[in-house]
Amino acid sequence: MQELTHYLNGTHVKGTSGRFADVYNPATGEVQAKAPLASADEVAQAVAYAEAAQPAWAATNPQRRARVLMKFVDLLNSDMDKLAEALSREHGKTLPDAAGDVQRGLEVVEYCIGAPQMLKGEFTDSAGPGIDMYSMKQALGVTAGITPFNFPAMIPMWMFAPAIACGNAFILKPSERDPSVPLMLAELMEEAGLPKGILQVVNGDKEAVDAILDHDVIQSIGFVGSTPIAEYIYGRGCSNGKRVQCFGGAKNHMIIMPDADMDQAADALIGAGYGAAGERCMAISVAVPVGDETADRLIEKLVPRIEALKVGPYTSGNDVDYGPVVTAAAKQNILGLIQSGVDQGATLVVDGRDFSLQGYEDGFFVGPHLFDNVTPEMDIYRKEIFGPVLSTVRAQSYEEAVGLAMDHEYGNGTAIFTRDGDAARDFANRINVGMVGINVPIPVPLAYHTFGGWKKSVFGDLNQHGPDAFKFYTRTKTVTARWPSGIKEGGEFSIPVME
Ligand code: NAD
Repeated sequence: MQELTHYLNGTHVKGTSGRFADVYNPATGEVQAKAPLASADEVAQAVAYAEAAQPAWAATNPQRRARVLMKFVDLLNSDMDKLAEALSREHGKTLPDAAGDVQRGLEVVEYCIGAPQMLKGEFTDSAGPGIDMYSMKQALGVTAGITPFNFPAMIPMWMFAPAIACGNAFILKPSERDPSVPLMLAELMEEAGLPKGILQVVNGDKEAVDAILDHDVIQSIGFVGSTPIAEYIYGRGCSNGKRVQCFGGAKNHMIIMPDADMDQAADALIGAGYGAAGERCMAISVAVPVGDETADRLIEKLVPRIEALKVGPYTSGNDVDYGPVVTAAAKQNILGLIQSGVDQGATLVVDGRDFSLQGYEDGFFVGPHLFDNVTPEMDIYRKEIFGPVLSTVRAQSYEEAVGLAMDHEYGNGTAIFTRDGDAARDFANRINVGMVGINVPIPVPLAYHTFGGWKKSVFGDLNQHGPDAFKFYTRTKTVTARWPSGIKEGGEFSIPVME
């Protein structure tokens, strides 16, 4: 059995707590490795290394720091297949989807190569007589990030690329379900020229997270994961005086107007609802057709497409549409919610409950499901299922459809499919959701825009990547400078103003 490590100060280090988490191959159900779960002492060791290394890194000019990221991009590209394979093996997603996970993180790294431009600061010449004023964007110091299982490459890179480009040291606590790719990323950063101690990986669970939350030296914490944990981390981190941004769960609605291209809408729903087995925070989990006729046409188009979905292990090649879910517990949770949908009166139009794959009977596969006649009180509507389950809620009008998305507690992503520019524009303006697609089912912003939901999908003020990341990972210092050639005036006792 492979024993995974932490990555501290440029070295793979075995865990010393004596506690481990099982890392599965979700396709076979086998435990393939064990990940060490760090104690508070191990976290403190990582912080000490980071604290020692960070000042020299912050003092390295931003162009040189950016060159490390440039080299890292090259290494990511050369190792793409290796990274994708390691990712699929622990997560279960297909190889092309795993490569996409790496690629979307790589794009954030590319964006961060522009750090010298983002960190330039501001300067006012002659703000007063003989007085210049300038603002600097300085690194915070030691920063940390806690990431979820579902994007083990992209989300760590969302955080560590801008943090490091800004001159911080970064401690990553990845998901204990799929920690291998984060460890590989840390190695590649070092190969790209990053000094030891600037990017470290501490594997762990709540104990390590709590140690991060309570450590005085850590200045900021980024979190992505489920909403209850996001809320907890935000509260405890903020009350400890840290800068915190937390991104939580989702329930993304797609509204299908009667004038939509129904083939396009159905194709979009298949990818957005079932891709990565629905384990995406931007997956569409609720379809809201407007009018019964639209709903009937949509369901008619969806059913054959769903029944044709190919579910299988990543080793079956590019032919597979989606793979297993991450753990047996995740599978049980999904099946429990499906049962609740049936019990609470929704119509299970496509029932994947008896799905089984020959040779992979112990894998965590879940067949695709489609519900119709779902209503807002049902658990399958209120809760995030995070599985290959699409719920259809029939709305009788556009207003009712918009109201559903507005009233839901989550506000990560949403989409409208229509040919009506007025409706699309009205929707984009009014909806209280952070990322909106117009005839685009998964509107994940590119690296140079920012990513973030609203409502219970986020805790904090700034989004991920894009210009917000440079705000999150720096603080502003403003200097007012005068170089007197000799004392010309006496002391002043009232506040200086510009007249
Ligand atoms: P999770 O909340 O279970 O775990 C996320 C991280 O928190 C992991 O590193 C885990 O070790 C840690 N953690 C778990 N329990 C903890 C506890 N009690 N105390 C402290 N730390 C704890 O989430 P997950 O299952 O890994 O990921 C799926 C969730 O992430 C979904 O809800 C999904 O919507 C969400 N997600 C959100 C976004 C976004 O940008 N909004 C992106 C991806 C995933």
